[in-house]
Amino acid sequence: MIVCERKPIPAILEHLDGRRRVVIAGCSECVTVCHAGGEKEVALLRDLLLLAREGLEIETQVLTRQCDVEFLEALDPLVKTADCVISMACGVGVQFLAERYPATWVVPAVDTRFGGGSRQAGIWEERCGFCGDCVLHLTGGVCPIIRCSKSLLNGPCGGSQGGKCEIDKETDCAWQLIHDRLEGLGRLDLLETVLPPKDWSRARDGGPRKLVREDVQV
Ligand code: SF4
Ligand code: SF4
Repeated sequence: MIVCERKPIPAILEHLDGRRRVVIAGCSECVTVCHAGGEKEVALLRDLLLLAREGLEIETQVLTRQCDVEFLEALDPLVKTADCVISMACGVGVQFLAERYPATWVVPAVDTRFGGGSRQAGIWEERCGFCGDCVLHLTGGVCPIIRCSKSLLNGPCGGSQGGKCEIDKETDCAWQLIHDRLEGLGRLDLLETVLPPKDWSRARDGGPRKLVREDVQV
């Protein structure tokens, strides 16, 4: 999922200077799962903003998905009379709303942190950097791009100690994890292959990306 975190209330209030009629738009997908922008968080943000600033008029709506134009129409009636939309979705949702409402001030209420997951309530960990050219089949299912602090494709770097990364004693060395996993699978031979330079044009370095799949187009 896309892991997000709500901005501090003073930062959100700054977005609202000079605005009175506000719509808070949540999303039922990733931000609901990571407790940043679902029903509960939308209601809480509304109450906190009303307490913090007199004179605000706030409507709320939680969309099925903000990153999908087919679900945005539900917001149209509310936005018609608003002078500001606060999106509690990830940055994709904020931009989809900004595109749909060119004449309306659209601002983010959350920071989009990373692609990750939760193994324990209240803790999320980064797992994917969306590089566009996955190599997990070569690294035992451990991402070297995101989990190695230096994004080494051919590790380890030599700084690992006791299985921990040299940048932080709390962080596992990704290449130790890769080694241990491949050892368990009887595939240490994979470590003898020197991975070639990655094709970063499929990552963000190649500019804004677009995926076209004719098989699902209508
Ligand atoms: S190799 Fe790329 S696509 Fe695969 S998990 Fe890592 S960042 Fe994500
Ligand atoms: S210690 Fe391990 S995780 Fe840290 S930078 Fe070196 S190879 Fe990467």
